[in-house]
Amino acid sequence: MDISIVVPVLNEEESLPLLYERLTEVLAGSGYRYEIIIVDDGSTDRSFEVMRELYERDEHLRLIRFRRNYGQTAAFAAGFDRARGDVVITLDADLQNDPADIPALMAKIAEGYDVVSGWRVNRQDRFLDRRLPSAIANCLIGWATGVRIHDYGCSLKAYRRDILADVQLYGELHRFIPALAHAAGGRVTEIPVRHHPRRFGKAKYGLSRTLKVILDILAVRFLMSYSTRPIHIFGLLGLFSLGIGSIVLLYLAVVRLLLLRPIGDRPLTLLGILLTMLGVQLITSGLLAELVTRTYYESQGKPIYTVREELSRE
Ligand code: UDP
Ligand code: MG
Repeated sequence: MDISIVVPVLNEEESLPLLYERLTEVLAGSGYRYEIIIVDDGSTDRSFEVMRELYERDEHLRLIRFRRNYGQTAAFAAGFDRARGDVVITLDADLQNDPADIPALMAKIAEGYDVVSGWRVNRQDRFLDRRLPSAIANCLIGWATGVRIHDYGCSLKAYRRDILADVQLYGELHRFIPALAHAAGGRVTEIPVRHHPRRFGKAKYGLSRTLKVILDILAVRFLMSYSTRPIHIFGLLGLFSLGIGSIVLLYLAVVRLLLLRPIGDRPLTLLGILLTMLGVQLITSGLLAELVTRTYYESQGKPIYTVREELSRE
């Protein structure tokens, strides 16, 4: 199998037949061996029935139906878990992405990239509540992760399947796959892709997405740099706080014991105590995080490295 297409679907009954047609047109003409995995993320309309009708007619299709709505990330993850193609390509079901861009994505993969991200140069969404928040988010993600691509939010992306095995998805982290793949040593690039306005159905996200993205950035940044050595970040902050706190308390001790002046009413006393306690707490949090990390890696037999290739006679 060359290509696995993964499509998350939430209430897209009108778009599905058209999407299927476009995909088949592009893929059947390309000569690739392919499968189309459609993941129904708890649709409440006729999406699944529409999919089932297509499934009866075409053996390239595979369907997964969630019991309830788990979100786009879970839908992608379900597709990734089942994908058999060497390359996995994701796109939205709402026809905003164009299957005609698939050959260009494949060409980049053939150049040796592990992740090729679509960049909606001419994005057809409203400015204020879609394009603006997304521009800010892209900037922040690029800055926090060091992977400077223009359009993290674009669903049209291609991945070499083995890089996906090294990326664990949680929460709403599908947007961060290029960054996570980069952290796992993958080669990431982007190409401009087409984008169309939504013709049917409704957009599923609102502005609250932006705040969540900001929190996700924090988590991803932490995981990328410190997940195998949390004591380095907690401990450093803790030592800093403890250091300053100790100096303050030492100074106050001199004032009280040698100069015999009262210190009870000085704000500095509070600050000294606060910083010292904070320092101790941060360091112990770091130690706890070390324990958690070990449990995380060892309980799953998860290596702390990722391997691209291995040559051996064993
Ligand atoms: N989607 C999904 N589960 C959700 C929300 C969305 O599977 O909880 C699907 C949706 O059907 C569409 C894609 O994810 O195929 C992107 O959704 P949408 O077009 O609303 O988002 P946007 O284009 O604004 O990123
Ligand atoms: Mg859309």
